[in-house]
Amino acid sequence: MSELQTLPAVATLDYTPEVARATAALAARVRGVIPPLEWQLHAPYIAAIGEWKRRRNAVVLAHNYQTPEIFHGVADYTGDSLALAQFGASTEAEVIVLAGVHFMAETAKILSPDKTVLIPDARAGCSLAASITAADIRLLRQRYPGVPVVSYVNTSAEVKAESDICCTSANAVAVVESLGVPRVIFLPDEYLGRYVAEQTAVEVILWRGHCEVHERFTAAELREFRAGHAGIQILAHPECPPEVLAEADFVGSTAAMIRHVGESHPRRVVMVTECSMSDNVAVEFPDVEFVRPCALCPHMKRITLPKILHALQAMEQRVEVESETAARARRALERMLAVGRREQRQRWETAQ
Ligand code: SF4
Repeated sequence: MSELQTLPAVATLDYTPEVARATAALAARVRGVIPPLEWQLHAPYIAAIGEWKRRRNAVVLAHNYQTPEIFHGVADYTGDSLALAQFGASTEAEVIVLAGVHFMAETAKILSPDKTVLIPDARAGCSLAASITAADIRLLRQRYPGVPVVSYVNTSAEVKAESDICCTSANAVAVVESLGVPRVIFLPDEYLGRYVAEQTAVEVILWRGHCEVHERFTAAELREFRAGHAGIQILAHPECPPEVLAEADFVGSTAAMIRHVGESHPRRVVMVTECSMSDNVAVEFPDVEFVRPCALCPHMKRITLPKILHALQAMEQRVEVESETAARARRALERMLAVGRREQRQRWETAQ
């Protein structure tokens, strides 16, 4: 008999009075971004996922770009790539469900090899991760002998394994400078690499990878936000093109943007990044007006509540990384974790 058959089933996926009562406080909290009628569709899944998390000794880690019903409804921990990687390594849970894209689940498995890591939809990829292979890095090393390779975490396990150190958008400058060398190869995000190069004396050799979500923003769009919304603060992610960043008041990782809203409490703000993040942050700051451009990441949006429930019930899709690749990738990630974060606040401090 399978493990699944030995467990009593969660009764129904109906919006029963019990489900309504159990989720009432959460429904009230997210009412500004999830209307009551829509909530009735999500609530049974949220209740069932809570039950299955207990049965499996599991946690759900959700990226800032997940939809509010996942981010606020079922996540035990939310954050950017770096925060999720750190939490995955520290949790006591036996099972991690990664509500994010595949490279994030791989990173969690690399840092937590003894835990079961599940991704609700293994097709959740990333245009940056798809832009470079391990073979590309070996060619770069031939072309630039002795130059260290810094890889953004938005890369496959094989690419991390070929890298000297990883970074995220939150710590990229600190990581580059930690190496103490005159030049580095920075990949795969060209725009993040250009942004890093502006802030360090280290020469940065770039790769031409782009995020298919952030590369679509334009400087003209940001000027329209400013013209149409008096007093608006524009916060932009460094994966945006340089001319977009030049129009922003603050440039930083998703975590840095959230922290900035909490510290400066702007009256009106636009976050130039994946649009679910504004919904998620708006729940925490009901007195701030969020202007929300719609830029959805199709990969992040593959993750849904029904797929998270299925992942916990069927214990799939399991994420595995070949042991030697994992060991080499872990070394690059652990070097990054040792460097930690250093916030990139210069632009905002100047704008103040
Ligand atoms: S938003 Fe961009 S960088 Fe993030 S997962 Fe989607 S494609 Fe990749």
